[in-house]
Amino acid sequence: MIDTAQGTDLDLQVNRRGFLKGCTMVAAALGISEAMIPKLVEAATSAQRPPVIWLHFQECTGCTESLLRASHPDIGRLILEIISLDYHETVMAAAGHQAEKSLHDTMEKYAGKFLCVVEGAIPTKDKGIYCKIAGRTAVDILAEVAPKAAAIIAIGSCASYGGIQAAAPNPTDAKGVMDLVSGTPVINIPGCPPNPISLLGTILHYLTFNRLPITDNLGRPLFAYGRKIHDHCERRAHFDEGRFAEQFGDFGHRNGYCLYKVGCKGPGTFSNCPSARFNDVDVWPVSVGHGCVGCTEPNFWDTMTPFYERLPNVQFPGTAGITDVDSAGKKILSVAAAAIGIHAAIGIGKKLVKGCVCKDDKKGGTNS
Ligand code: SF4
Repeated sequence: MIDTAQGTDLDLQVNRRGFLKGCTMVAAALGISEAMIPKLVEAATSAQRPPVIWLHFQECTGCTESLLRASHPDIGRLILEIISLDYHETVMAAAGHQAEKSLHDTMEKYAGKFLCVVEGAIPTKDKGIYCKIAGRTAVDILAEVAPKAAAIIAIGSCASYGGIQAAAPNPTDAKGVMDLVSGTPVINIPGCPPNPISLLGTILHYLTFNRLPITDNLGRPLFAYGRKIHDHCERRAHFDEGRFAEQFGDFGHRNGYCLYKVGCKGPGTFSNCPSARFNDVDVWPVSVGHGCVGCTEPNFWDTMTPFYERLPNVQFPGTAGITDVDSAGKKILSVAAAAIGIHAAIGIGKKLVKGCVCKDDKKGGTNS
């Protein structure tokens, strides 16, 4: 067992200020009123921390990495303060038989009460032999653990929908948890990786209200996946006005214009990335100049590729009679060119009036 309450090796203790700040952030993310924060805090500080079994299957451990990295310590540590992480192959001290004993002890002792977090897809081809832990297939382990869990949280796009393992031609017939489990509630927190606040919000909601949050028809909690990225992106005004980066490194790209034409999949992707953001410095891919790749959507490796080509069938709102992005780009360029021309003409006119146009002006020189 990983005793996060002691907080020795990993220094997991969260001070009260950071703790309250985290709860306030989660309340805001969940869209619940400030009046509910004490209830949230009460649930989060309960002496009886919910036991969690965290299973790793076919994946890169990026979701765990994202959660534990020091770049967002409050959220990661808060999660580890709230839950009792009884089995997690990446961070637990135990190994081999000891680790397996920990898994089985937790399952038996807390049957029907523990939360199961699954990270990674489950390969089902050839009786599941393409992913084995302690000699057992992921299919068998999930089949044993899932019915005993109170609820399952599929963390990341692989556990939710199969991820890159399920991309065509899906050689191992990888699947997400909800395709294999019935009878136990499953919630999906997709993303590659997802934002830790979405996991924290889901856990705190479960502890506070004794049920999982409301989801969309793809099993994603609405509080985190209820809006399209495109609808709350900081570059949206540029899209609406027809200002686009035409290629990486150009004027539009360097000046924060919309990334739709260089492949941004924000118009087809539901996630809280623009508001939740990542890391201490509050960034997310679009804020640092890379389009969204649609990683919270099912089968995004097949449906959102090529990543650097524009998403088809995106409705353009139309500005002054413009109905498609290409004519918008041309119109903006011609308007800009006209504006520059007028500006230059006014400047020359002023100088002619003063009678001081010199030949250096034609070379961009200045009058003295
Ligand atoms: S296309 Fe992408 S960069 Fe442009 S506004 Fe939408 S989400 Fe933002």
